[in-house]
This record gives sequence, C-alpha cells and structure tokens, in this order.
Amino acid sequence: MKTLANFIDGKLVAPAEGIYIDSLNPATGEVNGKVPDSTAKDVNLAVEAANRAFPSWSKTTRAYRSALMIKVADLLEQKLEEFALEESKDQGKPVSLARTVDIPRAIYNFRFFANSILNRHEKATELDGIALNYVHRTSAGVAGLISPWNLPLYLLTWKIAPAMAAGCTSVCKPSEFTSVTAWMLCSILNEAGVVNMVFGTGPNAGAPLVSHPDVPLISFTGGTATGELIYKAAAPLNKKLSLELGGKNANIVFADADFDEALKTTVNSSFANQGEICLCGSRIFVEKPIFDRFTKELAAAADKLVVGNPTVTGTTTGALVSEQHLAKVASYIDLARAEGGTVLSGGSRVTDGALARGFFIRPTVIVGLPAIDCRVQQEEIFGPVVTVTPFDTEDEAVRFANSTKYGLSASLWTENGKRAHRVAQQLQVSVRGGGS
Ligand code: NDP
Repeated sequence: MKTLANFIDGKLVAPAEGIYIDSLNPATGEVNGKVPDSTAKDVNLAVEAANRAFPSWSKTTRAYRSALMIKVADLLEQKLEEFALEESKDQGKPVSLARTVDIPRAIYNFRFFANSILNRHEKATELDGIALNYVHRTSAGVAGLISPWNLPLYLLTWKIAPAMAAGCTSVCKPSEFTSVTAWMLCSILNEAGVVNMVFGTGPNAGAPLVSHPDVPLISFTGGTATGELIYKAAAPLNKKLSLELGGKNANIVFADADFDEALKTTVNSSFANQGEICLCGSRIFVEKPIFDRFTKELAAAADKLVVGNPTVTGTTTGALVSEQHLAKVASYIDLARAEGGTVLSGGSRVTDGALARGFFIRPTVIVGLPAIDCRVQQEEIFGPVVTVTPFDTEDEAVRFANSTKYGLSASLWTENGKRAHRVAQQLQVSVRGGGS
C-alpha cells in the first residue's frame, strides 16, 4: 500500500495536519493508498511555492518550456505500463483502456502543448494609418487546477500541460478518489515550484484553492453542482475561470444509418470506462423503423461485455469508482423501474464470486421511459446505464435531444449528409448547461 505525499516546491511533504484518507481499490474494496487529507495550510504552502517560482518560470523561453515538456512526455512514456496498471487499480477502469487511452493521451497532452507553444501566432488589426492593434499575451500567474476521478491523469495533464506551456505555475488538486497517478507524476516533474500537488477532499483542499487571493486562474473539471459552487466562490474575486461540467448526451440513430457501425460505436460510447466519461452517450434515440432491432441487439451486446477484474487484459467493464457512486447508479436503475421503464439487460450489482467485494454493476439498457418528463432521462447518472427511446421525425429527435439542462455533446447517425448537417446545427451542445 502506498502513502502519498503532497508535492510542494519540488519536494514530497506530509500534510500539515498529518491526516490521511483511505483510498480504496474499487475492484476489491481494499485500501489501495493513503491520501493526504490536506487543508488550507497545505494549499497556502503550495501557492507560496508556486508564486515564488512564477517570476523566473514565466520568463523562460518557449523553447525551454517546450523541451522540458517533451522530456516529461518521454519519461511518462517509458513508464506507461506502470502508470496504466496503477490507474486501473485506483479508478477501476480496464487496464487496456488505461494503456491505450488514458496514459497515451496524458503523454500526448504534454507533446501537444509543447509543440503548440512554439507555433503560436496572434492577429493584428490596422486602423487606417492611425494605429495597429495587436495582442500581447502574458502568463496569468498561479493556476489552480482541479480535476475529477474518471480520467485521472489524462484530465489533470490537460490542465498542467497548457499551464506550463503558457508560463504559469500551478497548484493541482486531483480527486481524493484517484490520486495515485498524479502522485507518481511528481517523480517526473522536477522543476521546483512550477507544478505543485495538494491531495485531499474538495471542501478541505479544493475550496481554499478556489478562494485563494494569489490564484487568479481556476480550471475545473467535474460535476455541474460543484462547478456552480466554484463559480460562486470565484466570481467575487474576478478570477479567470474554466469549467468543464457534466453531460447527459444524446445519441440519435436514424433508420438510414450504417446499422452495424452505429451499434458497435454506441456500445463503446455508452459503456466505455463503465459509462464514467462526460461524453458518453447515455440517452439513445432511435428512429422507429429500426427501434426494435436496435434495442434487441444493443441489449445483447451489453450482455456480452466482460465485467471483471479491471487489471486483467480482456476485461471490458471494470468497477465503478466507489461504493457511494455505485449506490447512486443503482438508485437510478430502481428509479427507472419506478418510472415505468423495462430493463432489457444488466440492471443489477454483481454479487457473486470475487467481484462481490468490488463495486461492479452490469451494463444496463432501459426502454419504455418518456423522453422528457422523466428524471432518469434528465439527470446525469455517470455509470453503465443507457435509456433507449423511439422517435418519429427529425424534429422530434432534436426536441428530445435538446430537452435536458446539460449541453455537453451529442452524436447522430445517418448516411444522409444533408440531414447530418441540418440536425447537427440544431443540437444545443456546448452552448448551455454543462458545456465548456
Ligand atoms: P466532482 O465535482 O465531485 O469533483 C471534481 C473535483 O472537484 C474533485 O477533485 C473534487 O474533490 C473537487 N471538489 C469537490 N468539491 C469542491 C469544492 N467545493 N471546491 C473545490 N473543489 C471541489 O466531480 P467528480 O469527481 O464526481 O467527477 C465526475 C463529474 O465530472 C461528472 O459530472 C462528469 O460529467 C464530470 N466531468 C466532466 C468532463 C468535461 O470535460 N466536461 C470530463 C470528465 C468529467 P473530491 O474528489 O475530493 O470530491
């Protein structure tokens, strides 16, 4: 078992209060690590270190920062297997997913921003012989970076890498549920004070970071309710704020779609990472002529997914991140039944064999619920649970898809190019609700 430490000014340090949280392996229910339960004292130390490092770091050349970030990417790549296994144990995701998506994308984040900073250009506008207006960008200062548990290293590096590239120093607060790979990353980041890591809970460590007067910029990815709290805390301090929030994404399948491709991709986009991805399609709308066949084949494919120990290659569906999250997901399956839905596949916790100790739910397909006036179709479940609903017309599909407060993403399947553009332009994604 690992005992994690905060990473402040380039050094691993114990939390000021000496208190730790048990972080469980979701597949076994056993303690996987001890995570510092940091407080404002630790956050203050980290912000001081980041502030001290800022003047010299922000003056380094782009070429210097870029080269350093490429080195970080290379070192991470050398340890890909080790990181993938730990991410799987920490979060419950299949190791194959961590190996092919999470960790490679974390590496890519460093490479991408290392290159983009070298190729940055800005616009200038001319005021006929009077003035030339141009953009001059400066580094903002210490960035507060708060990330969720579902794609732990990938989403955190999506914040760290652009901050480093832009000459900002940072204080990160990863999710208390999945801190291990962020802690492992500390051994690769060795410029003192440039990236600092404070582990712990949202209220104890995240909130003081958001309200810290010397942190002018907050980048947050997580739930919509938490995003609202952060918005309220940051607004009076006029902070720069980036919020990437929840989703309840529509996946619209027209009768003229390539059936096999739409089905195969829907299985993946609904159930990958146990449905714990903000972009997962969780409301599937299928045009009536193919509805029965599509739902039948989707349920059969969901039944074939391999629910099992996530560290074993071949497992396609791992464990949910925590018992508390499992209870939330299970409560929505109960609610679906109460709201008149029929469960075609899954619908229960795994209670037999070794998996009974972990937090496993079988991939679940539900039909028979109203598209709009129904909590299961409106609220984010964030688990391996999808609803499938028939529609008659294009207008109805658009109305159903746009009927939630979340507007993160949507997908549509048709072989008709004109329809694809027409419908896509009516889908209200990234313009309201959880969109960023
Ligand atoms: P949460 O909102 O619960 O937590 C996100 C982060 O915020 C965690 O580090 C959490 O700490 C911290 N936090 C909690 N409360 C506060 C607070 N008051 N002040 C500061 N920080 C706080 O989200 P989850 O971790 O449960 O992640 C799942 C959610 O994230 C889903 O809604 C999902 O849709 C969304 N998400 C959105 C993405 C996007 O790009 N739009 C991508 C991925 C996920 P702690 O862990 O200790 O609670």
